[in-house]
Amino acid sequence: MTAASAPSAHWAILGGTFDPVHVGHLRIALQLRDAGFDKVLLMPNRIPPHRPSPQASSDQRLAMLQLATAGLDGIDVSDIELQRPECSYSAITLEVLRQEHPGVSFTWAMGTDAWFSFDRWHRCDDILRMANLLVISRPGDSQPLAPWQSQQWHKRRATLEELLASDHGSICQQTLPGLDISATGLRKALSKGDNVRFLTPDSVLEYLTQQQLYR
Ligand code: ATP
Repeated sequence: MTAASAPSAHWAILGGTFDPVHVGHLRIALQLRDAGFDKVLLMPNRIPPHRPSPQASSDQRLAMLQLATAGLDGIDVSDIELQRPECSYSAITLEVLRQEHPGVSFTWAMGTDAWFSFDRWHRCDDILRMANLLVISRPGDSQPLAPWQSQQWHKRRATLEELLASDHGSICQQTLPGLDISATGLRKALSKGDNVRFLTPDSVLEYLTQQQLYR
């Protein structure tokens, strides 16, 4: 399949630590689904290569994601990276996904913070040979593009429509109505005993209280 041919199905992947999942993640997933992706995969990573290890265990992060997405059509949780013992490299994940789902095109969605360090991702050029990138602006983003990002952006930029019709190698930047919520902020608030209701679904809140997470 070439970058120009229309894929039969197109899935978006939102990878992250989800430590814990919050409504910022869920809003993005819904907006991606409504933008035209056939499926949105929320994909927790086991050992993130670029940041400290999560506080909650893999099982706990997966359980919170499953609670948060229960009943949401078109939004699935993928444990593919939790099942692998090694570092969660997106290039390897994409190789497996493309083998398991021939005919499906993939777009890796990420916040601008992740895009800024994308050139340091393992085999980043290979990722662009297997997937498109959708860069989602987060509230407060203002950093100028670094040279690598700027070069790729000029070479590969696409509208959302073009990206949806592209199998790989396109980059689209979208400003989705944002929510200034982060897992870091949630963990801090929980450690101080602040009320975080409505920042994450009640089912997740109940779970993390019961598991005594982020105290
Ligand atoms: P932390 O504060 O621990 O870094 P996080 O809230 O950024 O966590 P991650 O699990 O690292 O959550 O995020 C997964 C993906 O979702 C990343 O690409 C991140 O940029 C994006 N993301 C998270 N929260 C938002 C938000 N409020 N708006 C837009 N993108 C977000």
